Order: sequence, then C-alpha cells, then structure tokens
Amino acid sequence: MTLPPNVHDAEPIPAAAREAIDALMSSGDLFRYTATQDAPVALLEQEFAELLGSKYALAVSSCSAALFLSLKALDLPRDARVLIPSFTFAAVPSSVVHADCIPVLCEVGDNYRINLADFETKLDQDIAAVLISHMRGHTSDMDAIMALCEARDIPVIEDAAHSLGTTWSGRNIGTIGRIGCFSFQSYKMINAGEGGILITDDADLVARAVIMSGAYEHNWQKHKGPRGDNSFELAQAFAKWQNQLPLYNLRMSNLSAAVIRPQLPELMRRVRDGRANHDYVAERINSSPVLDVPAPLPPEVRAPDSIQFNLVDMDTHEIQAFATATAARGLKVQIFGQSRDNARAFWNWQFLKDLPDLPQTRAMLMKACDVRLPVRLKRNELDVIADILLEAAAEVKGRVAA
Ligand SMILES: *Cc1c(COP(=O)(O)O)cnc(C)c1O
Repeated sequence: MTLPPNVHDAEPIPAAAREAIDALMSSGDLFRYTATQDAPVALLEQEFAELLGSKYALAVSSCSAALFLSLKALDLPRDARVLIPSFTFAAVPSSVVHADCIPVLCEVGDNYRINLADFETKLDQDIAAVLISHMRGHTSDMDAIMALCEARDIPVIEDAAHSLGTTWSGRNIGTIGRIGCFSFQSYKMINAGEGGILITDDADLVARAVIMSGAYEHNWQKHKGPRGDNSFELAQAFAKWQNQLPLYNLRMSNLSAAVIRPQLPELMRRVRDGRANHDYVAERINSSPVLDVPAPLPPEVRAPDSIQFNLVDMDTHEIQAFATATAARGLKVQIFGQSRDNARAFWNWQFLKDLPDLPQTRAMLMKACDVRLPVRLKRNELDVIADILLEAAAEVKGRVAA
C-alpha cells in the first residue's frame, strides 16, 4: 500500500526571512511603532496593499482580529444584525459576537456558495452589515451580492481569510466589498503561524481600524497612504478619530511581518500550483459517479490549497464507510457534518442564542468532504490521494470508477 503524503506541513519559509529576523534579533526592534519609519509591519502593509490593488492595509494579530476591527470600524450599534453564510469557520460568527453584534445565518447550497434567495430574504430583516465568508476560497455570486447590498446601502465586509489570490471577473477577492480581511495562519496561502491583514480604499474606515488596533497617541503618523505617501485624506481622518476610540491592541509584531514579506513574491506561484493540483485531483475524482467536485461560478478563478467534494447518493452508513475506507488507507477525510465537534458545522456554534436550523446547509455539511492539498504536493503524491478517494468510493458503492 502506498502511503499518502503529509498534508499538514506548510512549505519552508524563504531564506530571506532568516536575515530579516536576525537583524531584528540584533536590534531588539520587534514593536511596529519603535522605528520612525520603514518598520517591517509598515512595509508589509504597503506591499500588501499594492499587491492587491487597494489604497490602505492594516496588519493585525489574526484574520479574526481584522474581522472584529472591520465591524468596529463600520461603527455598528450594539446588537446590530450582521448577515453571514452558515458555512464558515466558527471564528466568523465569533468575531461578530466579539463586536457586540448579532450574527444572522443564511443558507449555503450544495456548491458551498450562498443561497441567494435566502440571502435576499434575510437581507431585508433589519440587517446592518454583511460579512461574506469565502469559505475554503469558494466564491459566492459577488455581482448579485453587491447589487443587492448596494441597493440597500448595506456595507459588505469580505472574509477572504482563505482566498488570497482568488479573482472574480479579474478583480482580487477582498477588494470587492468595503473591507477585505485575510489570514496568515499556517493553513492559509501565506504562513506566519498567526497574523491577519485588512484592506480598504476608505480612509475613514482604515483610520478607525488603525486607532482601535492599538495606534495610541500619535503612532497613527506611521500609517501611510498608497505607496507610502503622506495622504491628506488619511491625516484628516486620523485627526477626526484621535482619542475618540478604544484601543484593543491587536497589533502585528515585526517578527511576523519579517516572516510574511519574503512570501509575497511566492504568492503567484503558490496560487498557480495550488490551482493546477486542485484541478488535477478534481478531474480524476469527478470520474467517479459518487464523488462530485462542484464547479466554480464562471467569474471565479480559484486559489485552492484544499479540495472539497460531495458524496453522491450515499446514505449515512455509506458515508461513514467511505470515511473509514479512506482512513484505512492512511488518508483522513474530514466530512464537515459527521464529526462531533467540527467548528465548521453551524450547529456546534452553541455560543449563539436562538441558533436556527438551516436544512439546506445541514444537508450539504453531512456529505461534503474536505481534503488538504498543500501547494507543494507533486503529481505522484496527488495520484496517491486521488487513488485512495476513488478506491474508497468504489469499495463503498461496489463499483469501479469509469
Ligand atoms: C482561517 C479562517 C478564519 C480565521 O483566521 P485567523 O487568522 O485564524 O483568525 C476566518 N475565516 C475563514 C474562512 C478562515 O478560513
């Protein structure tokens, strides 16, 4: 039996990070606001904004912190209702709760994308903001979502934690809503262990987020506009909000920025490799009548580092047998709704009051499988994974894939 590859380790951090870290070790300059200019965190913000094509970026301690600050930056009143998809990671409703708002869950379909009919219905139920979580990088119909939200003047935040490098009609995911948030946690496209960043073109929103992230006193002066310029617009916004907002101290350390910056030039290669790997495995396993990888919506070009697929025409017993058959071959397949404490199954978000049932999302979660495909995997390793999935499917359904 050929053992499957390790799908948990990330790829090595580029050597350039070592030099930058050594320099920080020698100087002891780990705090983003010590240097008068060009601190690694400030440089990361400029580089990231430029890479994504947005005016401003704010690096923080996690994507969850970025989501929390985004909601706070919108100045939503206590108990404001925030519409989110019901298929996402528990960190997303948690960030809404953290911001003293109420998450309202909308249905997600078999293709892991927001059910627009349910979205539109709920949008008219006193919703103050929308937080679109592009779960596992799957992009919902952003044209329809933006049209519905713009018609009602409801701000949209994009949770692009796991979507760095994905495009929608050629636009970077995370630049379509008012604010986009990304993660640098180890399972995402750029790995700093922990970290997050938010981007926006709105000077007022970024000024509020910067101050609340912990830019006390006049540290806001170290935040610049596009290409490191002193932006008049930004200075005015900071003047307006100085001393008006609480400081939550969610800053990023220079060490994290030093680990992230040399990975930015790797992004396009990682995206290309990840997409090729994903599409290769997808094509192979789609040959089975009982495995289905939903197609992306036409405007989406994905940047995947994992693959999701549905088990077709299998009852609960067969679904369990499929998981057992892959595990016996050394590959752990996560079926979102089948494990007892999965953080992506909405019924486990019991910290929410009046947790609704969402039958469509529930049905999807009960048969949707998740397999990590780190972008560093090679063809032969991908074949081992695809073979295991196909063999397990054939074993359960008693027929060999075409
Ligand atoms: C990872 C992830 C988050 C949380 O990111 P952190 O940086 O760990 O806080 C939020 N949303 C989605 C969709 C994620 O994949």
